[in-house]
Amino acid sequence: MTTPTLPGAGLLKGMAVTFKTMVKTLIRPGRYLATVNYPKEKEIPVPRARGVIALDQEACTVCMLCARSCPDWCIYIEGHKEEKPPDKPGGRVRVRATLDRFDIDYALCMYCGICVEVCPFDALFWSPEYEYSEYEMGDMLHDMDRLQDWLATVPEPPPLES
Ligand code: SF4
Ligand code: SF4
Repeated sequence: MTTPTLPGAGLLKGMAVTFKTMVKTLIRPGRYLATVNYPKEKEIPVPRARGVIALDQEACTVCMLCARSCPDWCIYIEGHKEEKPPDKPGGRVRVRATLDRFDIDYALCMYCGICVEVCPFDALFWSPEYEYSEYEMGDMLHDMDRLQDWLATVPEPPPLES
């Protein structure tokens, strides 16, 4: 059997929480603020924050695994095969896949990180950079050169535990 509640009890409870938070904020301003006055003030994200995805073009083998695994279908990849000279005289001609296009549409991306997780060749990394908002939706599509530029902002991995 449920206990009957007084009319307006929920409202009073909510007001009590609001009042308590207001007093705490007045006593110690800054400590309880949940927001900052962006862009005048900026928060420093943690090093492993999911800000933007960086691409290492050299490491990418155009395997398409990231594009096939992306739940939002917002990775667009095109490539072609190129013949490379043999490593040593008399060796076989090598065939290497080369990227023609690698775009990520951040207007669709939901920052799940699946693409970074599934890449078998360590070609995708998270960078904590987050300042890339645009006025036009179409400008949220980052091409492979822009994704490569983000690589410089990827933090070093933490040292291995001994
Ligand atoms: S983070 Fe998720 S949604 Fe965004 S590109 Fe990668 S797999 Fe797709
Ligand atoms: S999974 Fe990695 S190697 Fe394969 S296409 Fe994506 S970024 Fe390139």
